[in-house]
Amino acid sequence: MDTDLLIGDRFEPGQDAAEPILDPRTGALILDVPEASTAQVDRAVAAARKAFETWSRTTPGERSAALLRIADRVEAEAQGFAALEALNCGKPINAALNDEIPAIVDCYRFFAGAVRCQTGAIAGEYLEGHTSMIRRDPIGVVASIAPWNYPLMMMAWKLAPAIGGGNTVVFKPSEQTPLTALKMAHIMAEELPAGVVNVLPGRGHTVGNHLINHPDVDMISLTGDVATGKKMLDAAAKTVKRTHLELGGKAPVIVFDDADVAQVVEGLRAFGFYNAGQDCTAACRIYAGKKVYDKLVADLTSAVATIALGNDDDSTNEIGPLISLRQRDRVASFVNRAREMNHIEVTTGGEVMDKGFYYRPTVVAGATQADEIVRREVFGPVVSITPFSDLEEAVTWANDSDYGLASSVWTNDVGRAMATAARLRYGCTWINTHFMLVNEMPHGGIKKSGYGKDMSSYALEDYTFVRHVMINHG
Ligand code: NAD
Repeated sequence: MDTDLLIGDRFEPGQDAAEPILDPRTGALILDVPEASTAQVDRAVAAARKAFETWSRTTPGERSAALLRIADRVEAEAQGFAALEALNCGKPINAALNDEIPAIVDCYRFFAGAVRCQTGAIAGEYLEGHTSMIRRDPIGVVASIAPWNYPLMMMAWKLAPAIGGGNTVVFKPSEQTPLTALKMAHIMAEELPAGVVNVLPGRGHTVGNHLINHPDVDMISLTGDVATGKKMLDAAAKTVKRTHLELGGKAPVIVFDDADVAQVVEGLRAFGFYNAGQDCTAACRIYAGKKVYDKLVADLTSAVATIALGNDDDSTNEIGPLISLRQRDRVASFVNRAREMNHIEVTTGGEVMDKGFYYRPTVVAGATQADEIVRREVFGPVVSITPFSDLEEAVTWANDSDYGLASSVWTNDVGRAMATAARLRYGCTWINTHFMLVNEMPHGGIKKSGYGKDMSSYALEDYTFVRHVMINHG
């Protein structure tokens, strides 16, 4: 595979250290990807700056047409993109092909429509003899930095509203998962003017660090860890760059006594373990009413034990391995520390598998609010269950978290569902489901989960800024 990076309209090899890209199913080397040098980062920022002069003045209709062409190209090459994503991330091919690719195509198509339908305050004479109007203009050059859990989808979430809004981008995929971004670079180069999107593989502390500190970058967009987000804020402070941060989560799931247990179990089996739990909205922190607790633990344990993974016939797999040995060992250490506590029982899973970076889907029962497994983001196929006494306790514990991204409430009482949802301090609350995202609705959090909105017209707002133009009638 071609591993050249994209600067302006030029594909060229990275000039710095080679990063080994591993197959998480086996741990074997797929290939090496050389990272961009600091000189290449500088040239990419310059190319984006030059492109901004003309791209920022294109009409919404022109940008929309480009996004639609990009969507069509991804759809036409769905098999190739899904196979590459499955290889690089260990995702089951069916999940990559049937879940992710359609959502990615839809993301580009959504923003193609949204950019032509923006609304704002009404122009008028708010001061006698003067007409005021509102504009929404692009911000400039965006440094866009993505994680490894959904490489191509995060690229879509970041690029579509940014370029749709008239910005230009220097995009850095995760050093662990650059392959689909490098393939996507060819589509970007063919469908967009030179320099609108530049793609630079490389590590965070080298390429990423140089990029976010670059004086000619106007905005930093990150999906990643809280610690990385803080580095973005430090870098942004120097030249007062805009920031758009999505920084993880620890989603609480409140199951009231009247919930339909079969529905809850089916939901948690799917939404707690999808993508091997490497998802910032994963349904991982369950609080169950005391009457429903025992049955939920028993039924969820049985259901989770049937999750298919590691089969040679990949079409039968429901989840894949963790992304790296480091991530697998991190997940294992969380579970090992939890099981050392007398009140905790690991009812299924709790062990590594003897191949690649796999970890068995795990249920940790009897956890209490103070436990590390309840408080910290594990980012693996592990859910904890904690019994609660009443609504007040459930809401207090659910909100007692550093994170504020996603949450869910399970009950047959619509009044209780609405009253609970209103009190949860999370960017999203699902009722009797979890995890479902649509491009029309925003995704983003509060507290240490960050504050950028992805998806929806709110993302377009984040990548543009409001201006007031006032005309003196003379
Ligand atoms: P990470 O923060 O280690 O890396 C994310 C990206 O930041 C990578 O491209 C990395 O190279 C880059 N980076 C790291 N250090 C940097 C630095 N000093 N300067 C510039 N760039 C730097 O996170 P990860 O391990 O790749 O991804 C997992 C994390 O992302 C989890 O914490 C997860 O919750 C979070 N996440 C959040 C969301 C969301 O929408 N809120 C979505 C997916 C993942």
